[in-house]
Amino acid sequence: MKKHNFSAGPCILPQEVFEQAAEAVVNLNNSNLSLIEISHRSADFISIMNEAIALVKELLNVPEGYSVLFLQGGASLQFLMASYNLMKVDGKAAYIDTGAWSTKALKEAKLLGEVAIVGTSKDSGYNYIPKEIKIPSDANYVHMTSNNTIFGTQFKEFPKTDQPLACDMSSDIFSRQIDVSKFGLIYAGAQKNMGPAGTTLVIVKDEILGKSGRTIPSMLDYQTHASKDSMFNTPPVFAVYTSMLTLRWLKKLGGVGAIEKLNEEKAALLYNEIDNNPKFNGFAAEEDRSLMNVTFTLADESDKERFDALAKEAGLNGINGHRSVGGYRASIYNAMPLESVQALVAVMKQL
Ligand SMILES: *Cc1c(COP(=O)(O)O)cnc(C)c1O
Repeated sequence: MKKHNFSAGPCILPQEVFEQAAEAVVNLNNSNLSLIEISHRSADFISIMNEAIALVKELLNVPEGYSVLFLQGGASLQFLMASYNLMKVDGKAAYIDTGAWSTKALKEAKLLGEVAIVGTSKDSGYNYIPKEIKIPSDANYVHMTSNNTIFGTQFKEFPKTDQPLACDMSSDIFSRQIDVSKFGLIYAGAQKNMGPAGTTLVIVKDEILGKSGRTIPSMLDYQTHASKDSMFNTPPVFAVYTSMLTLRWLKKLGGVGAIEKLNEEKAALLYNEIDNNPKFNGFAAEEDRSLMNVTFTLADESDKERFDALAKEAGLNGINGHRSVGGYRASIYNAMPLESVQALVAVMKQL
């Protein structure tokens, strides 16, 4: 029997996507060729890339004037690419520090300019989202992480700013409706909510590019990739194809608005159990709770062995918290069925 997979990433994808991707690795579109042996310049692959880009634009309502790119190097390379492209020579950027990923992002930005930390929840172990954010008027851009995968906190509202807003959406892209026009740059490693590891989605407003005044190495320059439709060099064909299949699945399901409702329903079920079951405590501040990564601890650590055994018996996988936080983390991304959340809640009730 397939396990209930709560892994934080790489993580669950729809079962039909696994099956379709597996089939394409053997025989793509009845061509008797594998997806991973054909040229990325072939008509078959170009139409896959075009469909993937079109689905991103359609599902997120991406306005005119933005480029949609499928790159490599993970969200981690975007920490550097974002600053290379947006930080001016002798410039300054504003970073909101909401945990491990934000901290890694600002570390890269510091290589290229001054970083002002304009909000942080470090003082309490990153269990909330800082609300009072004051952005210096001379910041070249503002950087934030919309959903904090490790700590289970999520911005419900985005900061208002006149400067380009750059957002790491790795763990909540396509999970809720967003207004792309409010952002200069959005990036997301595929392996949380869009596809397998190996590609990173970038949505960038064209008019903010080319203004840094610095020489950007070709591979780190968004304009290189935008001008070549993400085909400057060999794209990660399997990851792009499988992401495209996941986006097709999402469209069939009714799109981002429809999945958002399901995500709210799943999260409410789990948080409700955490709040009503005296054996568990929620980690994140209530108003900042993530719909994607639900973090909680045991009220009594001595229950751990029994809870873990019950979870294993019920076929639950990947609920251990991140090593830096401890406790438990149930990642309930788009592809996670309600039944799997019900299975976890049943185990919590059993304890
Ligand atoms: C997983 C994750 C990353 C790191 O992504 P890689 O693709 O492994 O580089 C960055 N930011 C957030 C919010 C994440 O959840």
